[in-house]
Amino acid sequence: MIRNEIARPGGHCWPRKLAWYMESMATIFSALSDGDLLARLEHACAQERLATAQLVALLAEVDVRKLYAQQSCSSLFTYCVQVLHFSEHAAYLRIEAARAARRFPVILDRLAGGALHLTAVSLLAPHLTDENHQQLLDAARHRSKRDVEQLIAQVRPKPDAPTVVRKLPTSQTVASPRIELRVDIGEEQKAEPLSASTVVTATPAKRAEIMALAPERFKVQFTVERSTFEKLRQIQDLLRHSIPSGDPALIFDRALTLLLADLSKIKFAATNRPHAARKAKSGSRHVPAAVKREVWRRDEGRCAFRGDQGRCRETGFLEFHHVVPYAQGGTTTSENLELRCRTHNVYEAEQQFPHRAQPLFAREPRTKLRVPAVNSVRTERAEPSSG
Ligand SMILES: [Zn+2]
Repeated sequence: MIRNEIARPGGHCWPRKLAWYMESMATIFSALSDGDLLARLEHACAQERLATAQLVALLAEVDVRKLYAQQSCSSLFTYCVQVLHFSEHAAYLRIEAARAARRFPVILDRLAGGALHLTAVSLLAPHLTDENHQQLLDAARHRSKRDVEQLIAQVRPKPDAPTVVRKLPTSQTVASPRIELRVDIGEEQKAEPLSASTVVTATPAKRAEIMALAPERFKVQFTVERSTFEKLRQIQDLLRHSIPSGDPALIFDRALTLLLADLSKIKFAATNRPHAARKAKSGSRHVPAAVKREVWRRDEGRCAFRGDQGRCRETGFLEFHHVVPYAQGGTTTSENLELRCRTHNVYEAEQQFPHRAQPLFAREPRTKLRVPAVNSVRTERAEPSSG
């Protein structure tokens, strides 16, 4: 093997000095116009999907022939991890897709065309039948993982997860004991009363989990500090007359309702007893409460930016944006204000004041191929917008 070349099966080699090649590519890309860059990216995505579909089809055939055995592997999974060097998760997704595609070859078509991602296929695979596969695959088109989980919950509803409150083992790095709390959220609440017997020691703390069990019912699971657990106990006692079971799911819902009202009041001046609308003082950036409410209602609590792919779906990090910039005489009225997410507020400020605004993503030196750091996003004042 020649030095600086990377061997591939079949005796072919990648271009010499792969790092140099990648850096050259990064330099070429940094010189592209925005339109060309997006077009190249879309082309690369299409190629990747095609390659993924081919890889899945190849894996399916290797699986049928059990070729992993002659490669000293006991399973296709071992072969994928040890020989093809996939991560365990990547191997799992591809094998699930390969086995599903053997039963329903149309899956390959959907993967190649980008209608389905590997996660959707692996989630759907156990639930696909001769009768339902077309319908389910169609319904999962371009849907997120969470959407697909809800789709499956409609087809195969699961029973409610039991309400569980249990103490987890204390690790040396955790100052106070942690409590795992698992509740159901749904239309109808029913749970066994909590008792001392439900408190048991168990597994290490897991990450928060939200899962659709059935239409309108979700399992939410997270771990809390001792102090949070004590608050839950106190609230259970205080609410004993209205929630005799002490069901954490009902308490969780009440707490969220209060928090939501509180946050809406702070962020968007939501109230059941609005004062008479007061006009913004001429020349002031201050957004009066009535104007906030009106803009929030009209824009349905969602970023109102419209781009080539339609309206932005962001509902978090929202800010009030002056359509005609304040600096150019734009008024602080509902007609001239719209909701924007942080990204689009900064983006439009850059478009309107290119000489003044810092770039949304700091450009890296051209010869380095690096993903921009998250903290390179410029922080903006919460309200009102700078636009
Ligand atoms: Zn947005």
